[in-house]
Order: sequence, then C-alpha cells, then structure tokens
Amino acid sequence: MPVQPAGKGEALPFPDADLMYVVDLLAPPERDRYFRIRQFLQSSVRQQSIEYWNREEFPFGLLADLGKHGLGALQLDGSSTLFKGLMYVELARADVSLSALAGIHNELILGMISELGSEEQKARWLPGLKTFGQLGAFALTEPDHGSDIAGGLETSARRDGGEWVLNGAKRWIGAATIADFALVWARDVADGEIKGFIVETDTPGYAATRIANKIGLRIMQNADIVLEDVRIPAASLLPGATSFARTNDLLRDSRAWVGWQGAGIQLAAFDVARAYALNRRQFGRELAAFQLVQQQLADMLGNASASLALMAQLAQVQQDGKLEMVQAAMAKATVTRLARASVAMGRSLLGGNGISSDYEMGKLFGDAEILYTYEGSYEINSLIVGRAVTGRSAFH
Ligand SMILES: Cc1cc2nc3c(=O)[nH]c(=O)nc-3n(C[C@H](O)[C@H](O)[C@H](O)COP(=O)(O)OP(=O)(O)OC[C@H]3O[C@@H](n4cnc5c(N)ncnc54)[C@H](O)[C@@H]3O)c2cc1C
Repeated sequence: MPVQPAGKGEALPFPDADLMYVVDLLAPPERDRYFRIRQFLQSSVRQQSIEYWNREEFPFGLLADLGKHGLGALQLDGSSTLFKGLMYVELARADVSLSALAGIHNELILGMISELGSEEQKARWLPGLKTFGQLGAFALTEPDHGSDIAGGLETSARRDGGEWVLNGAKRWIGAATIADFALVWARDVADGEIKGFIVETDTPGYAATRIANKIGLRIMQNADIVLEDVRIPAASLLPGATSFARTNDLLRDSRAWVGWQGAGIQLAAFDVARAYALNRRQFGRELAAFQLVQQQLADMLGNASASLALMAQLAQVQQDGKLEMVQAAMAKATVTRLARASVAMGRSLLGGNGISSDYEMGKLFGDAEILYTYEGSYEINSLIVGRAVTGRSAFH
C-alpha cells in the first residue's frame, strides 16, 4: 500500500525504524505497553498536533488521553528507565511539545516533589499530577540568567513570619500560563542559597504572559513570569530543596530526558522523509529511487539509530545508579547535534514542501532548535564534557 506524505491524506502507516532492536531490551509487559502507546500516539496525536502547532494552541483535549495511558505518572509507576525513555521517544515522534510537557512533568515536577517535597506537599499534589488532572511549571531560567543561572539567579525569597515573600522574574517557563502551580527557584536573602517553592498560579502578585511567535515547540505554552511581593505560606518551601546541590542531581537526570527527545525527533524526521521520498516523483521516478536521496535517508537513519543506542546504554548506566553529569551532558549534546543535522537533511529532502509545517518536516525542523538549546545549551553541555575530560573549566 503506498504511503501518504505527512500532513496530507491519512495518517502514515507506521514504519518500524528500530534496526538495532532497542525496544526488544524491554521486558515483555513493558514491550506490549510500548506498542499500545506508540499506536495511540501515531494514530491520535501526531496528525492533530500539526494544526495545534500552527495555531500555537495547547491541545487540552489530548491531555486526558495522555493521562489515561499513564504518561502523567511514568516517574512514579515503577517503569524501567528504558521504558520511560522510549515513551519520551515516541511522544517526540508524535509531537515534540507534548514530549516536552511529559518530560518536564515527570522528571522535573513529579521528580522534584516526590524526592524533595514534604509529605503534605506530596499528598496535596501528586494524585492530580499523575493523571494530568493538574499541571506544574518548572521556573528556573530568568530574563538575565540562562546558562549562568546557578551562580546568577536573582529572584529573591525573604522569610516574613509564617510566610515567604518572593520577588523577581522568570523567562521561557513551560506551561506557566496553564499550570496550577509553578515550582519557583529563588535565592534566600538570609543565607544566599537557591531554594524551591511551590507557588500556586492564582496567588496575588504572580503574573504569567505567554511568549508568542516561537519557531519551535509552538504547542508548549512558554511564558514570562513576574513575581511581585508574592506571599506564600512557609510550608510552600520544598524541604529537600534548601540548596542547589540536590536539585542539580535531578537536573542531571532530566538532561538525559532531552537526549531521548532528540532520538524521537530523528525517528519522526526519518518517517516523514521516507514516506515523502516514496510518494514524490521527479524526472519520472520516485525520489526514493535516486542514490543521493537514499544517501540522505541512510544518514538520517544512522543518526537516529546511533542516538537511540547511546540513549539505551545511558538508561542502563542510569538504572545502575552510575549516571554522572558528564555522561548526561555528552549524550544530550551529541544526540541534539545529530538531531539538528537529521532534520536539516529531512527538510531539504522535502524540497519546498519542507518549508511548510503542514508537511510536518518544517515543524520538526523548528522543534529541533529548542532541543539544541534548552536544559543546558549544546555549547554548555560540551563545556561540561570538556571540563570533565581535561580537568579545566572553560566557562569563565
Ligand atoms: C522553548 C523553550 C522552553 C524552555 N523551557 C524552560 C522551562 O520550562 N523552565 C526553565 O526554567 N527554563 C526553560 N527554558 C530556558 C532554557 O533552559 C534556556 O534558554 C537555556 O538554558 C539557555 O539560556 P539562555 O536562553 O538565557 O541563553 P544564554 O545563556 O544567554 O546563552 C546564549 C548563547 O551563548 C552561549 N553561551 C553562554 N555561556 C557560554 C559560555 N560560557 N561559553 C560558551 N558559550 C556560552 C549559549 O550556549 C548560547 O548559545 C526554555 C527555553 C526555551 C527556548
């Protein structure tokens, strides 16, 4: 049966591109679950997401379905590290924004509250979060501090009797306009430490404004946040987040999550490019029959397979408790570098239609740029690896 170009006609029949049998590393129950969820994402999420992406709208209707498939609880449901990673792959293969939402939600929100929160905070938030009935935003980056946030963070927290008073600004914060609360990182004026606070988004003094006109991750609602004398109860402080060191451990794990996204976006680009090459005819032949086109498809699949295999081994390292920042940074930098190259090949393979997000490749092309930059830019992650292998820091 001839496949249809993405964005036109019916959804693509699913081409399996896992040549290295990474999925076979899953235990049978997780493998069955993987195929069920992949089918759902390909049939019910992928095509719909193109319109939402074009309109920069969040698909609230899809959230409940993602919750029903357990994607809001991956962090806490006993899933293996590999299964969780492959879920981020398949989410990204269907839509990168939704994989970002699920990754931030699981790694940064569920992860931080379950690891660093009080029993009261866990009881208050975890049940609703696990079904995607509630959402949290992770508010670390600031307008004047991105790469140097750990040293430069300016948002302040001042203890005033039974309350904390927060002042400052945050930038690029995912889901901040639609979330129930934001996990805000602020510097305690008393001891200079960076601490984590749960700030409900209807608290007076909290204002989030959506950032429009992004070239990627257009479904994810990123926002500028202003915090002006925001008063929150003393119990809003995460008791385990009273210095940045512990938080950094969890950020190391979330860096690995972006690597999985980078593998997923390459599989998506390969799916779209292959389908297009089989359909489009020039010079009286399918594009797929030209040697240079096959070269591009082979390079894209090679990049995707190398990324997937690297991430699968990273999952093993992580599961064994041996993951250090250098490995997470190397994987994130390497996979997102390959992802950028893969979507560029895919974009050119679709010719002029690669420029229109209606054909999906343009959407992937834009989304790859975000993976390259967030959770530590490509350059910063490279510098982390450089410091580890030379013993010399080149940050300053
Ligand atoms: C779509 C999107 C979603 C995001 N979501 C969130 C979120 O939910 N929560 C959150 O807290 N943050 C979020 N971020 C922020 C993201 O983590 C930052 O954008 C990222 O850390 C880079 O910071 P910056 O944009 O301030 O760039 P800058 O730090 O200003 O860097 C600009 C450039 O300079 C380079 N650079 C900086 N320092 C050095 C150096 N020492 N040596 C060499 N090169 C250097 C960088 O690599 C980059 O290329 C998001 C960002 C985007 C774009």
